[in-house]
Amino acid sequence: MNTGSKNLIFAADLGGTHLRAAVVDERGKIHFRSKQNTPQGTDPNDIVQAVVNAVREIGPAADELKAVSVVVPGTVRVEEGTVVKAPNLPCLDGFPLATALTNELGLPAILENDANAAAVGEMWQGAARGCRTIICVTLGTGVGGGIILDGELWRGVDGAAAEIGHMCVDPFGGVACTCGSRGCLEVFASATAIVRMTREASPRYPESVLHAGQNLTAESIFAAGLQDDELALEIFRRMGVYLGIGLANLINILNPEMIVIGGGVVNGWDLFEKHMMQQVEERAFPLLAARVKIERAKCGDDAGLLGAARLAAI
Ligand SMILES: [Zn+2]
Repeated sequence: MNTGSKNLIFAADLGGTHLRAAVVDERGKIHFRSKQNTPQGTDPNDIVQAVVNAVREIGPAADELKAVSVVVPGTVRVEEGTVVKAPNLPCLDGFPLATALTNELGLPAILENDANAAAVGEMWQGAARGCRTIICVTLGTGVGGGIILDGELWRGVDGAAAEIGHMCVDPFGGVACTCGSRGCLEVFASATAIVRMTREASPRYPESVLHAGQNLTAESIFAAGLQDDELALEIFRRMGVYLGIGLANLINILNPEMIVIGGGVVNGWDLFEKHMMQQVEERAFPLLAARVKIERAKCGDDAGLLGAARLAAI
């Protein structure tokens, strides 16, 4: 067998709702994609089978695969290929997913945390190309983070580093976080937080087109902000202030070249950017603030898949 021809990675992004997959080559080109619902049962082998089926779907290209790389929304032990804790997929807690995939597919398999993989993807193919020290913040349902120092992903001693969403930015506000702490960045800068803050503030803005009784989403609040709705503008101002405080702390500690901000909430960039930047300018050391570039992510939903592929290829 000519193993030299095996240069494709099968990357899978295992989300709480969807399992997205792609075949990625060594240059970062995506050759095939698939999307299915993530099995919601209590048997982790259902998830193994879903990944195996996705691999079989690619047909003869499966013979060209060098490895399988899966990103998981939770803490993973990378060396062992074991999921430690995945709050949205509890059946995987403690499960040796990489070994199970290797047994089924006869291929090397690796695991990585989703936000860590997104950071690697953005540095390989996205906004942070050419950088060596970056922070990637993903503003979605929650707030995820990935930190790359001098080209190396910083996972921490237990694989749980870079929980940027759980940095405390407001000890006195008293907003409880799912992690058990209070005042975390996630309770001010996630999509969930934007909806909650809008509901809380709406009685003070009777003129607003947004009402607490509506089915509010971060997108609808952003759309209202583009129409100069005072409530929406206030919410994105607050979100930008808290995000900027968090970024200033990170800048002072890590002196990064770039901070990449991704996830669905980044669509509101035009409404929160100036408030975020104002906090960075006020709080970060001038030398560090002048050096860091703060940019929107470029890989979109593919950041995790690309990062997974990159991690398996090196
Ligand atoms: Zn928290």
